[in-house]
Amino acid sequence: MTPIIAGTPIAAVMQRAPVEQLEARMLIGHVTQLTRVQLITQSELALSAVEAEQLNSLFQRRVAGEPMAYLLGEREFFGLTFHVDPAVLIPRPDTELLVELALQHLPQHGRALDMGTGSGAIAIAIAHTRRDAHVTALDVSESALRVAQSNAKNNQVIVAFVHSDWFAAIAGQQFDLIVSNPPYIVAGDRHLSEGDLRFEPIDALTDHADGLSALRIISQQATRHLSDDGWLLMEHGYDQAEAVRDLLKQDGFTEVQSWCDLANIERVSGGKSAIRSAIS
Ligand code: GLN
Repeated sequence: MTPIIAGTPIAAVMQRAPVEQLEARMLIGHVTQLTRVQLITQSELALSAVEAEQLNSLFQRRVAGEPMAYLLGEREFFGLTFHVDPAVLIPRPDTELLVELALQHLPQHGRALDMGTGSGAIAIAIAHTRRDAHVTALDVSESALRVAQSNAKNNQVIVAFVHSDWFAAIAGQQFDLIVSNPPYIVAGDRHLSEGDLRFEPIDALTDHADGLSALRIISQQATRHLSDDGWLLMEHGYDQAEAVRDLLKQDGFTEVQSWCDLANIERVSGGKSAIRSAIS
C-alpha cells in the first residue's frame, strides 16, 4: 500500500484508496470533516500532513479488516447515532426488531429493563421513542457502561445504568418488560473468526458454551423480576428459536412466540409472565 502524502488532492486520494470507494469517501470525510457533497465540490482540496497520516492509518486498519463502525467511532441504529468502540458490539439492523417489539409490549409509563446493554442502543432507542417509560439498562462490562452512558447523554435520554452480572445487582426490582440481546453464538462457531466479529468483544458475542446459557439464565430468573403480564423478549441466533421457546415454556411463560427479522429468520422470541403465585 503506497502511503498518501500531504498535499495530495482529495480526488487523487479517492483514486488511490486501497478500500472500496464508498468506504474511502466515508473515511476521508471523517478525517477532513467534510460532508459528502463537499468532498465532491471541493475535491481539489489538498490533505494536510496530519490528515494524510490519519488517513493512512485508517486505510491500513480497514485493509486489515477492522469494522467501519469502529474506524468512524459511530453507527446509526433506530434513527439515532451511537458512539461505538471495541468495548461494545456494533448495533445490528436485525436488533431493531427487538426494539419495535419492546415498544409494542411496554405499557404506558412502564418500567423496561435491558440486560447486557453494550452500547445502550436498545435501551436508548426505547427511552427516546417512549418518553413516558422508565428504562433501566445493565451490563457486566464497566467499559461498555461508559459507552452506553455517553450515548444516553448524546441522545438526550434518561436511562438508569446498573453494573450487574445479569440479575445479581437488581435483586427485588420489578419491571413490566425485560429485553435482551445477550451473547448467543455457540463457542467455536466459525463466524467468530470471520469478518467484523473478529474485532468485537468476544464476551458480547458468545457464552463460550452452547449459545443458550445466557438466554437460559435470563429466562429462568426473569419471572421474579416481571410484573404480572410483563413480557420477556430476547434476541437469539438464526437456529435457536425453537430451543428458546422451549426454555420460555419450561420457565412458565405464556403466549410464547417468535418473530422474524427482515431476512425472514426467527430472531426474537418471548413470552408473558404468568401470575407469580402460580409458579413460585
Ligand atoms: N447477531 C450477532 C451476530 O450474529 C450476534 C449478537 C449476539 O451474540 N448477541 O453477529
